[in-house]
Amino acid sequence: MLSLEQCSQKKFLVFGLGISGNATLTQLKKNKANIECWDDSKQLREKFKNRYRVNKDWFKSSYDFIVISPGINIYSHSKKSFFQKNTNKIITDLDLFCSSIKDQKVILVTGTNGKSTMCKLIYDLLKNSKKKVYIGGNYGTPVLNLPYKEKSAIFVLELSSYQLDYSLRLTSSVSILLNVSPDHIERHKSFEKYILAKLKIFKGLTQTGKGFLDLSNDKQSKIFKVLKSEKYNQRNIQLIKKNIHHHIKDSLISAALKGSHFSNCLYIALQIAKLFNISKKVYLKTIKDFSGLSHRQEIIKIKNNLTFVNDSKATNFASTEVALNNYKNIHWIVGGIAKEKDKITIKKFKRSILKAYIIGKNINFFLKKIKNTIKYNASHSLKNALLSAVSETKKNPNLKQVILLSPSAASFDQYKNFEHRGNTFKQLVKKYS
Ligand code: ADP
Repeated sequence: MLSLEQCSQKKFLVFGLGISGNATLTQLKKNKANIECWDDSKQLREKFKNRYRVNKDWFKSSYDFIVISPGINIYSHSKKSFFQKNTNKIITDLDLFCSSIKDQKVILVTGTNGKSTMCKLIYDLLKNSKKKVYIGGNYGTPVLNLPYKEKSAIFVLELSSYQLDYSLRLTSSVSILLNVSPDHIERHKSFEKYILAKLKIFKGLTQTGKGFLDLSNDKQSKIFKVLKSEKYNQRNIQLIKKNIHHHIKDSLISAALKGSHFSNCLYIALQIAKLFNISKKVYLKTIKDFSGLSHRQEIIKIKNNLTFVNDSKATNFASTEVALNNYKNIHWIVGGIAKEKDKITIKKFKRSILKAYIIGKNINFFLKKIKNTIKYNASHSLKNALLSAVSETKKNPNLKQVILLSPSAASFDQYKNFEHRGNTFKQLVKKYS
């Protein structure tokens, strides 16, 4: 695979003009590639047409490389035959990044839930030990906006299954696959294919590289079976079969890392500290000071006996489950676009949920899952849900209660994204409590 420096005169189609597409265009231009681009959105095409050649006949043309943005579904696209014909030419910004680095180290992180938290924890750990570390990928900065030429830099990259699915030429010193549960099935078509995409994270491990595969939620060994059938070199992949107890006193761990679902994150971070010769002292400081990320079980207000928690990033039930496990006397705000094949089983939380408040356009879906088990209110909007929950808490002012937004669903039916949903919740809490 060619590096960015070798792109000169090669003909590229950059397909998808969001933030990663924009970064790709900039790098390819700098390296004198022959570039054409396209996005199905007219608005985005307009934005780029003065600087790049937008080719409306892209599907009739031929290219040396086609750089696809992860958000584009080439399997269901109206011109999918073009993509089928050109499979071997499809690459990603991540492929270009990995082919362009030299002595730098790359730490790749994926999983269904917990990716961003794991990335930030590793980033903090390396930063606290004064390493030159950068964080990006799905986490925020597109990989091609990172300083890939910087000597002895370490890059911590969060990857989604979409990115992994299209990438073929990864390189990594460390690859981490956290828990996997059914998610994005509408795109990958089956759980097995989703697992296959996730496991690709181990494909680029260097000879001396180290992989971590968390199998603690692989109850039916589905992930393990795919791993075996794909003949991965398991020698440098550590299989973590259960939650590893860390023997660190609770008071020494930041509230943002509490809960058994973080025990393997803490374990992996400790292993990374060892791999990078970071002292235990720095590791302990990092896990104590860890500030947590917005929209992930974020405590936004405590008023008398009432705590408000924003967990808008919980877009599937596995992520909501860990929040439901963490609290008692919960007023649970749930709903949105549910994930295909997501298993919502609330029986075991019957005692901790006082009432559910269903929001979004898909009320019936959630209603069916909960109506015979817990009390509920079909609130439709976040504002109604919050107002009903606050008024319900007043019936029992001496009881410690929690109002938890943990939707178990995507936000696109009512909001731009999970941040928009979480920020709206924060504003409403400010106004009505
Ligand atoms: P991601 O980047 O994978 O979406 P985040 O760190 O942003 O992960 O967390 C997303 C949601 O997943 C939050 O609601 C968080 O509480 C939850 N979560 C974090 N770790 C786990 C885990 N090990 N299992 C299930 N849910 C988790």
